Amino acid sequence: MQSCIFELSISFCFRVDLLAEVSGTSIMPDPQIEKLLIVQSRDIHLLKIEQDLQRIPNELLSLKVKISAEEANIENAKKSLIEKELNRAVLDAKVKDQETSINRFRTQQLEVKKNDEYRALTQQIEQLEIDISSLEETEIQLMIDIDLEREKFEDEKVVIESRIVDLKRLVDVLLEREIALQDSLDTAKQQGVEARFGVDEVFLNHYERIRKMTKRPPYVVPIVNQKCEGCHLRVSNEVARGAREVGEPHFCDQCARLVYV
Ligand SMILES: [Zn+2]
Repeated sequence: MQSCIFELSISFCFRVDLLAEVSGTSIMPDPQIEKLLIVQSRDIHLLKIEQDLQRIPNELLSLKVKISAEEANIENAKKSLIEKELNRAVLDAKVKDQETSINRFRTQQLEVKKNDEYRALTQQIEQLEIDISSLEETEIQLMIDIDLEREKFEDEKVVIESRIVDLKRLVDVLLEREIALQDSLDTAKQQGVEARFGVDEVFLNHYERIRKMTKRPPYVVPIVNQKCEGCHLRVSNEVARGAREVGEPHFCDQCARLVYV
């Protein structure tokens, strides 16, 4: 009721207080509180910039890890294909070796005199032909596998490369955002300093103390329906009444934030 002692009739005062009690809304905050609300709004703005800036390195790192993983996927698929191609080349070389041996045995057959020597060479040739046939079957299967895998690899590569392009675009966006935030940081700090000009020292000191003590904003909060909007707990009647008094700071008796109505 002290807020109403100057030039206001008692009945008007009563009505105003009653209205605030019923509606739970603020009437006329202390001018110092109004100034602090501007300070708070600028501090929150600055805090948001600082928090956004702090998050960027981790977000960049996470994007770079994803890009590396995608690139590794392409490399691994490429390695698997190269490995299969090498296996095919080895099989091919084996077949050629066997064919050379067959030709050599056939030449020897022309030179041998005895039947059993001739038959022994025939058996070796037949065995080599069986081996060649088996090697060729394996080689054909491998070639089919390689074709399928290459096709799959080419399709997946297009998708992965497109994902990498998107991720790199996000990196660029983040880097641009980092520059923009850095640019706005000094202005926001300056605005915070300017908003503090003209604030009563006692109010400002309490504000700064609460700002340090409270981990997260807000630091100056209204009382609505006798509840502090900072901690959402009910304040005492004394605090609720006192918060209407202009000229001195009042605090939530639960969380110690500056309160007003
Ligand atoms: Zn509170």
